[in-house]
Amino acid sequence: MANTSGSQFCGICESPIRAEIETALDQKEPLRSIAARSGHSRASLSRHNRKCRGRQAIAEYKEGKFNPLTQSVWTEWPDGHLARQSVPSNFQGTLSNEPGPDDVIVKVTFENPVAPRVLPETKK
Ligand SMILES: [Zn+2]
Repeated sequence: MANTSGSQFCGICESPIRAEIETALDQKEPLRSIAARSGHSRASLSRHNRKCRGRQAIAEYKEGKFNPLTQSVWTEWPDGHLARQSVPSNFQGTLSNEPGPDDVIVKVTFENPVAPRVLPETKK
């Protein structure tokens, strides 16, 4: 087996049944049980779960992260009115009158009003 130190991938990443293993991990199936089914050791399943999947989650998070230079923020008020928040002067995206597919919409809703609290009369 090739030396994989420093590599992004482990035996499970390269496994032909990786998708099946990922699903089992997503469903929080015990490692012991996945190990028995897949033939991979519990240690390598555990390592893959912590290291590889963690790295993947970070990469996905970065990808999905809001970029203020290309995405704008809108406020949707309870009456349905949409207003774009201020845009940085070095904004590189396209500005239109409608939110784009990558824009973020903050929806404002109000809770039902709370009945005023009646304080007991204080004795003098
Ligand atoms: Zn892996």
